[in-house]
Amino acid sequence: MVLYTPGRTSTYPGEPVRTGLRAFFLGGGDEVGNVGCILEDSTGTRLLIDYGLAPTRPPKYPAECPPVDHAIITHSHIDHMGMAPWLVGHLGTKLHASPLTASLSEVMWRDTYKVSKIEGYPLAWDRRDLEEALQAWTTHQMGDWFEIGAWKCRFHRAGHIPGAVMIEIETPELRILWSGDMDTRASPNVLGALPVECDILFLEGTYGNRIHPPRIEEEERFVSKVLEVVDRGGTALVPAFASGRGQDILRILRREAPNLEVHYHGMGTRVTQLWMDHPESIREPKGLSKTWRWCRRVSGKSDRRKALDANVIVTTSGMLDGGPSIWYANRLRHQRANAILLTGYQAEGSGGRLLLDEGKLRIFGNITPIDLEVEQFSLSNHAGQKELTSFARACAPRHVVIFHADQDGRDALSTQLAGEMKVHLPSNRVEIILE
Ligand SMILES: [Zn+2]
Repeated sequence: MVLYTPGRTSTYPGEPVRTGLRAFFLGGGDEVGNVGCILEDSTGTRLLIDYGLAPTRPPKYPAECPPVDHAIITHSHIDHMGMAPWLVGHLGTKLHASPLTASLSEVMWRDTYKVSKIEGYPLAWDRRDLEEALQAWTTHQMGDWFEIGAWKCRFHRAGHIPGAVMIEIETPELRILWSGDMDTRASPNVLGALPVECDILFLEGTYGNRIHPPRIEEEERFVSKVLEVVDRGGTALVPAFASGRGQDILRILRREAPNLEVHYHGMGTRVTQLWMDHPESIREPKGLSKTWRWCRRVSGKSDRRKALDANVIVTTSGMLDGGPSIWYANRLRHQRANAILLTGYQAEGSGGRLLLDEGKLRIFGNITPIDLEVEQFSLSNHAGQKELTSFARACAPRHVVIFHADQDGRDALSTQLAGEMKVHLPSNRVEIILE
């Protein structure tokens, strides 16, 4: 299947921008994930921010990107960088990111490629594009200015995950802040984002309608549940994303319950090694290396079987959509003392959602009842409504563009902020002009 016919499937406006800033979302404008947005002004400077795909089944892809010389990738999640090899292979785009995000790209892209082959879903780029994309990175340290056309840009820490950035852009007329996926709260592996004064704020709104419980209390509730499961002789299965949540869980467990036997299994192994190569991006990096030595990493088949007797298994995929988490769930489901502890949002259509709603999982193709305790914890690394609104107020922009959100998130944030700044709720493939 051909996703794009370069130059023919793009709906980007043909005319140059006369005044102000044009923002054109290729994806992620009125949805979570799948992000790509072109910014352009009257100097003719054109920049793409992020180019991801939503790893749903089947995946969702952003619209075809028009010719663009530069793209900045905010962080290493696949819904923000998954389609970048297409840019390099077809448009010759140069990619910019933090050093950690650039080095994580190889793991993320190779995994995307592998999964697309296994699942048989279309991908618009091939292995050659991937190899070229690995050579297309220019990296920038936090706070260092660099030029894109007539604009100056610099990165700020975004919280969220190690290496994630917000982008400050200075055009001849305007100061812009692009939040990327962000959190102002510190998490075990990364400190929170700080506000930057600007004229135009592009603000993610994933949890725009949600008030997070205090993070520390939620971490304590999680640890107590783990201890309860272990006390009754069970194993706690904790499905968690490979980049971010899994490592957070390990650090929380080591801090609060160092005597537990915790096994880690999944793609996060490679990710964590790269994190440790970039200590400047990690909160208390020594704590991470100690945690990594403390847990047991599962590699071979016999390790897997041993892990079934552990107190806790932390593993991928985070939404029980395959990977080792399904293998473990299948083994652990027969023993009622065991439990499955979900540590974040479970998307519509995901395995985790099916488990929460119907107490069932798709195991090797069969819908299987799971008669275990299932509990969900809110350990998200996205800012909630309170954090988003106080961040927006501290940035004091004239315009706020709320993206990466569903309708409820957009409406809630819009209601909160409307009296104080002009709120824009973009749709994909419809330009907005900001002055
Ligand atoms: Zn993200």
